[in-house]
Amino acid sequence: MHDPSAVASDSSNFIRDTIDADLATGKMSTIITRFPPEPNGYLHIGHAKSICLNFGIARDYKGYCNLRFDDTNPEKEEQEYIDSIRRDVEWLGFEWHSNPFASDYFDQLYAWAVDLITQGKAYVDSQSAEEIRANRGTLTEPGNDSPYRERSVEENLELFEDMKNDKYNDGEHVLRARIDMASPNINMRDPVLYRILHATHHNTGDKWCIYPLYDFTHGLSDAIEGVTHSLCTLEFEDHRPLYDWILDNLETPSRPVQIEFARLQLEYSLTSKRKLNMLVNEGQVSGWDDPRMLTISGMRRRGFTPQSIINFCDMIGITKKYSTIEMGVLETALRDDLNTRATRRMAVVDPLKVIIENYPADQEEWFNGPNHPQNPDFGSREVPFSREIYIERDDFMEDAPKKFFRLSPGREVRLRFAYYITCKEVIKNAAGKIESLICTYDPESRGGSSPDGRKVRGTIHWVSARHAVDAQVNLYDRLFTSPNPGAAADFHQALNPDSHIVMDNAKLEPAIELTDNSIAYQFERLGYFISDYDSSNDNPVFNRTMTLRDSWAKIEQSQ
Ligand code: ATP
Ligand code: MG
Repeated sequence: MHDPSAVASDSSNFIRDTIDADLATGKMSTIITRFPPEPNGYLHIGHAKSICLNFGIARDYKGYCNLRFDDTNPEKEEQEYIDSIRRDVEWLGFEWHSNPFASDYFDQLYAWAVDLITQGKAYVDSQSAEEIRANRGTLTEPGNDSPYRERSVEENLELFEDMKNDKYNDGEHVLRARIDMASPNINMRDPVLYRILHATHHNTGDKWCIYPLYDFTHGLSDAIEGVTHSLCTLEFEDHRPLYDWILDNLETPSRPVQIEFARLQLEYSLTSKRKLNMLVNEGQVSGWDDPRMLTISGMRRRGFTPQSIINFCDMIGITKKYSTIEMGVLETALRDDLNTRATRRMAVVDPLKVIIENYPADQEEWFNGPNHPQNPDFGSREVPFSREIYIERDDFMEDAPKKFFRLSPGREVRLRFAYYITCKEVIKNAAGKIESLICTYDPESRGGSSPDGRKVRGTIHWVSARHAVDAQVNLYDRLFTSPNPGAAADFHQALNPDSHIVMDNAKLEPAIELTDNSIAYQFERLGYFISDYDSSNDNPVFNRTMTLRDSWAKIEQSQ
């Protein structure tokens, strides 16, 4: 099991500096953070950055972090997403203090909206959405005051109550803050606080037909929960004056501050729930947990460990400046973690049969192989050997160049743990396809060591045909061929047609658990693998989590 205390914790960043300063001046004594996803999709690798930051800070400062569902858009939010978000945060190894919904605060938010109206700081606007947009102005021109801006407090109170009491249709009125239509910051030009929306909410059902907007809800929810540092991504920097305005104009139980950091942008991937949702709905992937998706659920199914994701977040750090992270960073974090955890096994994904003609047909032997080359705690297992084995088709070449150190006619190769074999004959079918190889073995080379000092350069993996377990193996690769698919006019054009290759005739050595996806395997020379959720003893299915080496680096260099 993954140990959350193993989360690297001494990484310093500007947010921690602010917290240190706040603690030093006695501004607060307990640090409270929150991770506030909207339950309108599954969490992705970008969210992991925010989770590690918020929960990591709470843990290191001995405070706490809430998991708050920011659920102000009833039309897009679903129970399935709520369940998946909880599962993903837990899987990463974090424990929330409480798990409220912003919608739990709707009564209090309504009361605060009434308070703003009473103070003359909010009004009901009856312009259409188009009129509001047209009157908002531009970056270079101020906006125009709404003709309804000077409504009396009494009229506003009555209209707002009627909005709540279902007297109007969607879009007939909105509640707006009364700030400044000429503000250079468009977010401060009388932002909308409430809208009429006749939609059933996953948490509050049909109780409300008006819903508060994100900017109104967020800071006030933070204040209700006593959040001390509200950490969000840089796009919200321009919203901070509004965040502050709302809190400054209402009596709230606490006064949080918002601090922004740069969101994760990762090469070869999309980190937008909207676009990921498109991939799912269009059937470009098998679902939110398709192993090619950089959703937490997809990564889990693919075979990522929580620790590899946490280590990745730690490696990239927290900054105030946008940068794009190379995919290699994530892959290295994964390989480094799996290298220490993965049980070694042999499997052949593209089998070619080898018949060892001088090995007795009724004989078999079991070779002892360590489960991990560096860590004896992993123990060992017995690997069966017999007259017919499978090797990887790639490990044979008929017209091999001199430097090909694997098997070819007349050449000798070492079978891992077992014997030296020499290829004597190539058997082909009528179409010319190689069907099998006839080899001989040297009984003196048992255990793979040279009997007379002769050199054998190559060592290949193999599986005994008689003992092999048939399996399907999914070879996954990056979902996109372009480093920045999100920037393309249409990200579909960047989809990698080879991102999923099914090998349906793979052969596994018998000492492999077929349905336990808590065990990471390294299939020697092939990469890291994990059994898929759909795997059964009758139909084993394994996913390649990651190759052993970066095969993209070469491609990128040669381009
Ligand atoms: P999306 O555009 O994918 O829907 P979002 O920001 O709207 O993302 P939320 O559910 O609102 O998704 O996000 C919850 C929290 O996760 C927010 O605090 C948000 O800032 C943070 N977050 C989302 N994407 C990233 C990212 N790429 N890097 C860092 N933090 C992120
Ligand atoms: Mg959002």
